[in-house]
Amino acid sequence: MSTKSKIALVTGGSRGLGRDMIVNLAKNGNNIIFTYHSNKSEADKVVSEVLSLGQKAVAYPLDLGNIKTFDSFVQQVSEYLSEHAGSPNFDYLINNAGVGLYGSVTDTTEDVFDTLMNIHFKGVYFLTQKLLPLINDGGRIINISSGLTRFTFPNVSAYASMKGAIETYTRSLAKELGSRQITANSIAPGAIATDFGGGSTKSDKNKRNAVASITALGRVGEPEDIGGVVAFLCTSEAGWVNAQRIELSGGMMV
Ligand code: NDP
Repeated sequence: MSTKSKIALVTGGSRGLGRDMIVNLAKNGNNIIFTYHSNKSEADKVVSEVLSLGQKAVAYPLDLGNIKTFDSFVQQVSEYLSEHAGSPNFDYLINNAGVGLYGSVTDTTEDVFDTLMNIHFKGVYFLTQKLLPLINDGGRIINISSGLTRFTFPNVSAYASMKGAIETYTRSLAKELGSRQITANSIAPGAIATDFGGGSTKSDKNKRNAVASITALGRVGEPEDIGGVVAFLCTSEAGWVNAQRIELSGGMMV
């Protein structure tokens, strides 16, 4: 890795929003480490895309819901960076990976609740904790939340609650890490056309029309509406943005 480039670590970079964040970060001259869950072929494509942009990239499998594996993941990242960048440190952590599971308050099982909690909250909390020693002073942490912490629909209670926890966690991170000049912000996307939660925002015409009708800009979001903003938050110009929840929804439910 070039010593001049900054390094971003993105979880869930093989598809959807994470992939677009990576492309934009690479276009801005950053080198990339990212994780995927099981979709190695998509991850390999993202690695190739970054290489074609002239930046370095490596992808590791990681299950955000399996906290016991985090120590060996952090060790892998640290060894990779020591070998390829001359130190085990990186600059920007983007906690993006996630799954969409939905059900009413009445129907949500403890298993579903625990899966969402482990991936979206506990996993983000402890992965960040374990990676903190590797983040350079002056770095950035960006946690991906959801518009569903401001507005709501039926069947999102468990998922949205985890995202609410993430926004609270983000403000605590900003407070505690200020002495290291590390900023922490959350990004709250509206409904975006990805595979998330079964992919209905991408493929279900009725849902797309419904989302468009409650969005000031009159359409569903695309991954390209999100990645550039995340990349911007990782520029020196964005250094004074801290402890914020930034909603990227095109004005959904206003
Ligand atoms: P996608 O389903 O398109 O991609 C999910 C990504 O997360 C993939 O890289 C996937 O890896 C990875 N992943 C899935 N399960 C796990 C796991 N258990 N451990 C680690 N990684 C995992 O989702 P989006 O890009 O749409 O969503 C990204 C983030 O944005 C999520 O946090 C989501 O909650 C949030 N969000 C999404 C919205 C939307 O409408 N799409 C709206 C608001 C927020 P693999 O490819 O290997 O399966």
